[in-house]
Amino acid sequence: MGTTEKIFSEAKSAHPPLTPAQQATLDLIRLPANERITHHSTIRAQIQLELEKETVNLVDQIDEPLWVSKRQLQAVTSCEVLYEAQQEESFEWKIPMTRGQIFHKCVELSIHLSPSRSAAELVDEAMTSIINRGDGLGTFLFELTDIERAEIRSEVASLLQTFFDTFPPLQNSWNPTTELPRKVILHRGKIVLQGRFDLTVGRPDEFTAGRVLIELKTGRAVPHHLDDLRFYALLETLVVGVPPALLASFYVDAGTVQVEAVDEDLLRSAIQRTSNAVKRLLQLRLKESQPERRASGSCRWCPVADDCPTGQSWLEEANGSGVW
Ligand code: SF4
Repeated sequence: MGTTEKIFSEAKSAHPPLTPAQQATLDLIRLPANERITHHSTIRAQIQLELEKETVNLVDQIDEPLWVSKRQLQAVTSCEVLYEAQQEESFEWKIPMTRGQIFHKCVELSIHLSPSRSAAELVDEAMTSIINRGDGLGTFLFELTDIERAEIRSEVASLLQTFFDTFPPLQNSWNPTTELPRKVILHRGKIVLQGRFDLTVGRPDEFTAGRVLIELKTGRAVPHHLDDLRFYALLETLVVGVPPALLASFYVDAGTVQVEAVDEDLLRSAIQRTSNAVKRLLQLRLKESQPERRASGSCRWCPVADDCPTGQSWLEEANGSGVW
């Protein structure tokens, strides 16, 4: 084999041809350079100002900082009574919750481990690493039976194989990161906004957007996934100074991606939702008003549903015994 042929053959084996599904995903998550927005250098300061002005009269009344993640925002936006019930509940690991955590660890290892591993090998490495951490999830996995652990392994290995078949292989030149933490301090530490991005690719070029934030979803699609990512776009802008180019939810079971471009309108609606929710979280903590009940699909698993007339009537109707 000649030198040129050899280089071509090595390059080909380093980057084997994409499956149609991988190509479709890549086409959706890669924004052409001429479509990337160049933002104003003051965007970060403007957003911080807008977020702080809504709560300036409330923050001085709280003693402990208010920590806000996508979970609190979603909870208080959907049903405030449910939000308060969740605050009281102690957290408990359950088997279905473990697969997403292990899956994310596998993706992280798949980027950084060399030589590359099969899906089954990565799941083993990920479970061992989590168990060795000895934290809540590690202890939970350690205490399961061999059969329960084997079932989790099998499920996550199948998910991971679907991911490898449908998501383009991550190349170092794309600057991929996993579990990228972002923390934003408002009002000198009285309010802390935080998040951790599952996966990112690309990076900004000075004030031109280039990073894509990707959430890897091992469950079904729900509308608030979009809101979660829009909140992450704010965090990214407030930390880096440039908004991401695209937001993507990748549904691993189906191997499909939903993508949204980040523009001024999207950022404006994220600022509005976040500042309204943070204001409500402060009012609820200060007991300035009663929490509102808002029935939705969350009533199906809400821990206080049995004692909630609003939730009960919604459930009756949703289950078909109410009026059409
Ligand atoms: S049952 Fe529904 S309406 Fe009632 S508190 Fe729970 S989520 Fe809210």
